Amino acid sequence: MHYPKPITSKLPNVGTTIFTVMSQLATHHNAINLSQGFPDFDCDPALPALVSKFMQSGHNQYAPMAGILGLREILAEKTSALYGADYDAEQEITITAGATQAIFTAITAIIREGDEVIVFDPAYDSYQPAIELNGGITIHIQLQAPDYTIDWTKVSQAITPRTRMIIINTPHNPTGTVLSAQDMIKLTEVTLGTDIVIISDEVYEHIIFDDQAHQSVARYPSLAERSFIISSFGKTFHATGWKIGYCVAPKALMVEFRKVHQFLVFCTNTPVQFALAEYLKQPHHYLELGHFYQQKRDYFIGLIKGSQFELKPAAGTYFQLLSYKKLSQEKDTDYAIRLTKECGVASIPVSVFFQEAVNHHVLRFCFAKKNETLEKAAVLLRNLN
Ligand code: PMP
Ligand code: GLN
Repeated sequence: MHYPKPITSKLPNVGTTIFTVMSQLATHHNAINLSQGFPDFDCDPALPALVSKFMQSGHNQYAPMAGILGLREILAEKTSALYGADYDAEQEITITAGATQAIFTAITAIIREGDEVIVFDPAYDSYQPAIELNGGITIHIQLQAPDYTIDWTKVSQAITPRTRMIIINTPHNPTGTVLSAQDMIKLTEVTLGTDIVIISDEVYEHIIFDDQAHQSVARYPSLAERSFIISSFGKTFHATGWKIGYCVAPKALMVEFRKVHQFLVFCTNTPVQFALAEYLKQPHHYLELGHFYQQKRDYFIGLIKGSQFELKPAAGTYFQLLSYKKLSQEKDTDYAIRLTKECGVASIPVSVFFQEAVNHHVLRFCFAKKNETLEKAAVLLRNLN
C-alpha cells in the first residue's frame, strides 16, 4: 500500500527494538537464542490450570479498571511483608499490561514538554521513546564501567530546575548489577527538597543472588513517597507472554497514573488476574526464584569456564554479561551478529542501550534456559578462539 504523503516521524531515531532484531536473527540462522530475555521452559502447570479454572467459571469480562481487588490486596501484603511499606490496595496499586505499559503510563502521567528525565545508561530501551513522545528530554548518565555503578556526583550535577523524574532499575537489565543501600541513601539525598518523581523499575525484584537483599525504594519512606514502583509477573512466574505487571505508588501519583491507564488499556486480562491472586497466596512461589536462577547463573558460568570469555557474575536478573575482548576488537553489534550467524548463539550487544557510542566489548546472554540449552550454547562458545 502506498501512503501518499511524507511522514515526519515522532520518533525519528527509533528503529526496531534490539530484542526483536536479535530474536529474528536467531530464528533465521537457527541459532540458540540467548538474546531476548525469556525462559525456554514452561511456567508452573498450576498457573495455566488456575487461569483455565477461572475462564471456565465465567471470569471472562472486563476486570475493574485498576485490577481485581483480590490481586491488589495480596500485592499490598507482599509489599508490606518484604519491604515494610504499607500501600492501600484500593487506591495505590494498579494492575497493568506488563511493566512496559506501567512505565509508559507513569511517564505519560507526569512528563510535560521540556521536562528533563534522568536515566542511567545502559538503559532499558522503552524509557527514552516514552519520554520523547511526551515532549520530555532524556538526560543520560553513564554507569561507570566496568562495574556499572552510579556516580552520584554526576547525578547531583545533572539535576536542574527542569528535572522532573529519575528512572532507576534494580536488579539492572542489561548489566545484572544491583543498587546498594548506600545508593538508595544517595538517591534520597539528591532528591530531597525537589519535586522529582522516581520510577523504580523492579521487574527483577525476586531474581537477586548471593543473599543480597533487594533494595526496593519501598524500603525508604522518603523515596517511596515520590516513587512509582513497577514490577512484572512475566519475570517472576516464567510467563513473559502473559504481559501482566503492576504499579505501586502513593495515592496522589496513582490518581494521575490511572487517568492515563484507563484510556491506554482500561484494564488487563481478567482470568489471569484471578489466577495470580490465588497463586501469590503461597510466597514460596516467588521467594524461591532467586535460588533457582542463582543455580542457573552458576551452571552457565561453570560451562563457560575454559572459554575465552571473561565475566563478573551477575548479582541479579537472568542475564550474564560476557566480555569478548580476548576474542575480538569488533563493535559489539557486529560481533553479536557474527556470533549468531557463525557460532550459532544469539546474544544482545550492550552498546545499543547507550546514547553515546561506546564499545565495552560485552554481550548480554540470557541464562533463563533449560540446562541442556545452556550446555549446547556453551559448547559453541567454548570453541571460539
Ligand atoms: N523493564 C525491564 C528492565 C525489563 O527487562 C523488562 C522486560 N524484560 C520490562 C521492563 C518490561 O516487562 P514486561 O514484559 O512485563 O512489559
Ligand atoms: N526485557 C526483555 C529483555 O531484556 C525483552 C522484552 C522485549 O522483548 N521487549 O530481553
